[in-house]
Amino acid sequence: MGKVEVIAGSMFSGKTEELIRRLTRAEIAKQKVVVFKPAIDNRYSDHHIVSHDISKMPCMTINTADEILPNIGKATVIGIDEAQFFDESIINVVNQLAERGKRVILAGCEMYSSGEPFGQMGALMCIAEEVTKLRAVCMVCGEEAYISYRKERPQNGNILIGNSDIYEARCRKCAHLNGKSQ
Ligand code: ADP
Ligand code: MG
Ligand code: ZN
Repeated sequence: MGKVEVIAGSMFSGKTEELIRRLTRAEIAKQKVVVFKPAIDNRYSDHHIVSHDISKMPCMTINTADEILPNIGKATVIGIDEAQFFDESIINVVNQLAERGKRVILAGCEMYSSGEPFGQMGALMCIAEEVTKLRAVCMVCGEEAYISYRKERPQNGNILIGNSDIYEARCRKCAHLNGKSQ
């Protein structure tokens, strides 16, 4: 049976680590695995998904979700990292994969630093059979963090690709969004 799993959380919450963990276990079980990530995320490598603690796994870098179906080969387990960057066609692609009996595991950042839902992550969580929410550690107080706080003022739009130079994990209190966008 096909199945959709979503791993959601802020930056540094361990989404890529958890994705790699699940995909590695599938490989140990001799299942064929293929991994995709969007071209927009080239922070570490064009050919790997990489976690902040530097575990990594080879992947195919694609521009749109439409490139997933023609490139799955014989894979039965499909990993997708940085799922928040895909447009709404990702929903149809993921449903088609699950209907064809594939296990689809998506990891993605669920909110912009403004606190608004990020891209299609909300919709993906709706269609998933299983949703896992991970939490980072708040860099101010040490509590559970829920958001990727942008240390610099936003310049153009919501998306600014970066790492701990630009973002840090914060809890609701320390992000002090006061219910408003930054
Ligand atoms: P994500 O894909 O969610 O951004 P990663 O899987 O790449 O997360 O990285 C998770 C790792 O990041 C943790 O295991 C830890 O080593 C490191 N890390 C750095 N900053 C934090 C933080 N504020 N809270 C938790 N982990 C952090
Ligand atoms: Mg990640
Ligand atoms: Zn805090």
